Amino acid sequence: MKHTGLFPFVHLFPRQGVAETRSLTIRGFPDLPDDDYGLMESYCVEAGCNCRRVMLNVASRRRQTIVASISYAFDRDDEYPGPFMDPLNPQSRYAGVLLELVEQVLADPAYVARLEAHYYQVKGAVNDPTHPCHQVLAQSDGPDGLRLPNRQARRARARKGR
Ligand SMILES: [Zn+2]
Repeated sequence: MKHTGLFPFVHLFPRQGVAETRSLTIRGFPDLPDDDYGLMESYCVEAGCNCRRVMLNVASRRRQTIVASISYAFDRDDEYPGPFMDPLNPQSRYAGVLLELVEQVLADPAYVARLEAHYYQVKGAVNDPTHPCHQVLAQSDGPDGLRLPNRQARRARARKGR
């Protein structure tokens, strides 16, 4: 499962990323603290790679940290279709509960279709040498699926309340 060069969608396409990131508002849930949990998408930015996966890094708004990293393949007959907790990323004690919730979200074909569209958008950009995303990638410290979007993006997402 080659899947090394992950990069947050919201860093490549900030405005669209903020508008199109799903979040879960959790209140009074037995095994999970009240919070808003953003499903931050990261995609592989290796040109020419066709891994057809997304990493959903579940970001706690209150704790400002990633509390679960969930890997999912768009092809259901993939060797590792997911969703599963990514073994290479740290998981919090809430990761198991969050995985169950994310599983429910991924049962929505419209949501999966949007993720897949984002995947193709990223692949189209990284395979186009003239695309401005290459500046963003060059200025970053390297691919990293775990970083949160910047403060401004978080505030914007909070205002939108999605
Ligand atoms: Zn890949």
